[in-house]
Amino acid sequence: MTTRSREYFAPGSIEDALRILAERPQAHLLAGGTDLLNDLRHGIIEASDVVDLAGVPELRGLEEEPAGVRIGATVTMRELLAAPLGDRLRALREAAGLLGGRQIQAAATVGGNLCQGSPAAEVATALLVHGAVVEVAGPQGWRSMPLERLFAGPRRTTLAPEEVLVGVRVSAADAGWSSAYRRIDLRRSVDIAIVSASVALDIKVGVIRSARVAVGAARPVPFLVPEAAAALEGIAVADETELVAAAESAAEAARSASSPITDVRAGAEYRHAMVGIVVKRAVGAAAVES
Ligand SMILES: Cc1cc2nc3c(=O)[nH]c(=O)nc-3n(C[C@H](O)[C@H](O)[C@H](O)COP(=O)(O)OP(=O)(O)OC[C@H]3O[C@@H](n4cnc5c(N)ncnc54)[C@H](O)[C@@H]3O)c2cc1C
Repeated sequence: MTTRSREYFAPGSIEDALRILAERPQAHLLAGGTDLLNDLRHGIIEASDVVDLAGVPELRGLEEEPAGVRIGATVTMRELLAAPLGDRLRALREAAGLLGGRQIQAAATVGGNLCQGSPAAEVATALLVHGAVVEVAGPQGWRSMPLERLFAGPRRTTLAPEEVLVGVRVSAADAGWSSAYRRIDLRRSVDIAIVSASVALDIKVGVIRSARVAVGAARPVPFLVPEAAAALEGIAVADETELVAAAESAAEAARSASSPITDVRAGAEYRHAMVGIVVKRAVGAAAVES
């Protein structure tokens, strides 16, 4: 029996990357490698060819465009934290600052975090509440879809094996919503969230005109909770009694929408209770406009 040796590819353009993937659909895409190399080392995924995305210019850069913010798939958490985003995308910057420690943040990319398919993926809920749209390149050309349609379950996305996540776009209006990210963890910097939540609020003249609430690690995929968002709409943020009651209703809606599991990090019951806590904390933080 002959075993084919595994190959490493370093394409210099998205066309090159797509051509290699079309020829080798079993190949793994490599971004920062903080998940992939671990998975290969521990035999969690089958060893195969590797296509390194580091040299693909279309996947790089964080650009502020008149229409909004475009974040390339290989932008790292450290690059996100260094970007001059001002008050925009606060939940995303908070999530990036909580992902792993400083060394991991230097390598871990936005695209890798989203495509790993973890229910706890740090930047997922933050991008969901900012209404992010993902750009995907494949043999049929480029396409866009709402971020929520990317997630298919633990370790799974809806991308075809020969497709690449190119970047994420957030409209100027959505990027300006006041937002916050909160998580419960055991050991900061070496652990992923037990549960997490992001909240984004469109506050005009002191009143929440629109809201989005997303929860992580409480279902097989990170998810938006429209009922929790509805509980916050129309609330005057300066009215503490009203805001606390609305946050409690949002927390209850998020708990009802959750179906967490028990694993080595926490029990389902604890997770369920903590969903309400992270939602309330994120509402409180987002209601204080940055
Ligand atoms: C010590 C440690 C602490 C960690 N802490 C956290 C944490 O707190 N929170 C958290 O969410 N994660 C954490 N992680 C996991 C990991 O760092 C993140 O998920 C990271 O963002 C993955 O990005 P990456 O660039 O390293 O992805 P990679 O490991 O390169 O890739 C991950 C997966 O995504 C696929 N992929 C990558 N880019 C693309 C693309 N453009 N298109 C299609 N598919 C793609 C790869 O093929 C692979 O399947 C931690 C990891 C370690 C080792």
